Amino acid sequence: MIKTIGVVTSGGDAPGMNAAIRAVTRVGHSRGLQVIGFERGWEGLLSNCYKKLTPRSVGGIIQLGGTMLHTLRCPTFEEPGGVEKGAETLRQNNVDALVVIGGDGSFRGALSLGKVSEALMIGIPATIDNDVYGTDETIGFDTAVNTAVSTIDKIRDTAISHERLFIVEVMGRKRGFLALEVGLSVGAEVILIPEAPMTLEDIMEINEENARKGKRAGIVVAAEGFGDSNKLAHDLQNRINSEVRLSIIGYAQRGGSPTARSRLLASLFAERAVELLCEGKGNVAVGLQKGAIACVELQSAANKRKELDLRMLKVAEMLSI
Ligand code: ADP
Repeated sequence: MIKTIGVVTSGGDAPGMNAAIRAVTRVGHSRGLQVIGFERGWEGLLSNCYKKLTPRSVGGIIQLGGTMLHTLRCPTFEEPGGVEKGAETLRQNNVDALVVIGGDGSFRGALSLGKVSEALMIGIPATIDNDVYGTDETIGFDTAVNTAVSTIDKIRDTAISHERLFIVEVMGRKRGFLALEVGLSVGAEVILIPEAPMTLEDIMEINEENARKGKRAGIVVAAEGFGDSNKLAHDLQNRINSEVRLSIIGYAQRGGSPTARSRLLASLFAERAVELLCEGKGNVAVGLQKGAIACVELQSAANKRKELDLRMLKVAEMLSI
């Protein structure tokens, strides 16, 4: 029987993390559990910095981006003695289970911590990159897609007015999940993702073909992990006739009020996570699989590579003729 659960948000923030904190707290309380929130990611476990979370203290946050517990990347947690200190903090505060809201890096932290702590570990996938194995979607991804799409729709107006080619760089770290879904949704002429390399010549060929068909403006959506967008814009400008502009959307994609979908996922993931903990199940991550809430071994969620459906790239190509 668990009595106290800890919550931590770690790694890059994602819209919907607050909705997850709220849901863990409220489901926990409705099951008679105490809930405490460690602040600033793993740093909170190293410095024993936490606050008590109650149904009232998590009021008014469902619509807020970011995380009220704050987050950071914490290299010292990975150093010798880091997870042992974290385990000691959990013991000291009688924390029986820890809910880790974050990406695969945070899950690797939970996995290491779980090896030296008696507390149950459970992961809730939250990152705008959508690159966590075992879930079709992560908390925050839908919000980031929508933010990027509405920004690119605006850029498209200028691209058409000025008959220019725009390269728009979106986030996604080393993966192309965000760029692919955004690219398809804005009707991008070219989508550049690390999983499907393209040369400058390939892009020029598409651009020339589009010009022959009477398309005088274009949008190239480039994942940040594809490479140096500045260099790409510069090289393209030197090789093609139309004007080229680069727009890097940047951190605006990480923030903002979560969409209904991000809030819904956060709430459903959190509910399942607490239920699993009440059943005494740890060492897993919750996720969405074929439309249903599911769970996967934490080891897999932390370390396995999630495949990107490249058929979506083909569809995007077909639709941008
Ligand atoms: P994300 O969760 O968004 O993927 P990171 O990859 O930056 O973010 O990981 C978040 C944090 O998790 C790291 O800063 C580090 O503190 C912790 N972490 C990652 N891997 C390990 C590990 N093997 N052992 C302990 N802590 C780790």
